[in-house]
Amino acid sequence: MMKSLENRVAVVTGSTSGIGLAIARRFALAGAEVVMNGFGDPAEVDRLREEIAEAAQTRVHFIPADLSKPAEAQMLIKQTIALCGRIDVLVNNAGIQHVAAIPDFPDDKWDAVIAINLSSAFHTSKIALADMQKRDWGRIINVASAHGLVASVNKAAYVASKHGIIGLTKVTALENATRQITCNAICPGWVDTPLVRKQIEARAAAQNISVEEATKQLVGEKQPSQRFVSPESLAELALFLTSEAGGSVTGSAYSMDGGWTAQ
Ligand code: NAD
Repeated sequence: MMKSLENRVAVVTGSTSGIGLAIARRFALAGAEVVMNGFGDPAEVDRLREEIAEAAQTRVHFIPADLSKPAEAQMLIKQTIALCGRIDVLVNNAGIQHVAAIPDFPDDKWDAVIAINLSSAFHTSKIALADMQKRDWGRIINVASAHGLVASVNKAAYVASKHGIIGLTKVTALENATRQITCNAICPGWVDTPLVRKQIEARAAAQNISVEEATKQLVGEKQPSQRFVSPESLAELALFLTSEAGGSVTGSAYSMDGGWTAQ
């Protein structure tokens, strides 16, 4: 396997689960020294970290910053630079969802979704860019969503945060356009992760239907392919965006959504 990220240091936020975990794994296999982050049972997180390091024969660290807090988001990158000497690749992936109509949307849930899905990417990028600019090389990948391009009911905070992060992506790209520093967003459709499992289980309970039926409904409603997007295919897209061949791709929002936003 080609090791395109040899000698690169990559931070993947929210990489204890789902899409972030697949990206951390793929980047490690591509030779990167990887910093993982996210919530989870400490023993399980350590097991994952060791498993990835062992399989990839690279260094893998874990820094447990809570990205709802600006100081911790900034500290995640400062600690990475202290530990690894630099940051070359930043994937802003951590995210949460809350589903409710606007009149019923709890204020604290709005604040949490915006803080984790959007503001944390500003705080990590702010510190990372200063370091990347010293070497004139860097890659920032913001994991947005099909909901960064189109809306759905009952997801006001999520849709606002994901539209916002595509805006942040464009500004980051433009401010660094003359450097070898790119910033792009990835816009997945439905991916089978704990974030979506919660929505499927809520739908099954509300309609008194099976989880299988609820899954079919949820994916079928929006995603013409009628299939989940896999975390591994998103990780391949992220890897391409870190490559030299991807060096002129900047400020874009890449859909991998089974046709969702083609409609
Ligand atoms: P997930 O729930 O499997 O993973 C989310 C990760 O974020 C976990 O590692 C979790 O610990 C971490 N996290 C949550 N809050 C955090 C906090 N305050 N501080 C640090 N880490 C925190 O979900 P996922 O589906 O893999 O989602 C990853 C990203 O992909 C999110 O930004 C999500 O919005 C986006 N996305 C997911 C889908 C989907 O269908 N699953 C679709 C489009 C976009």
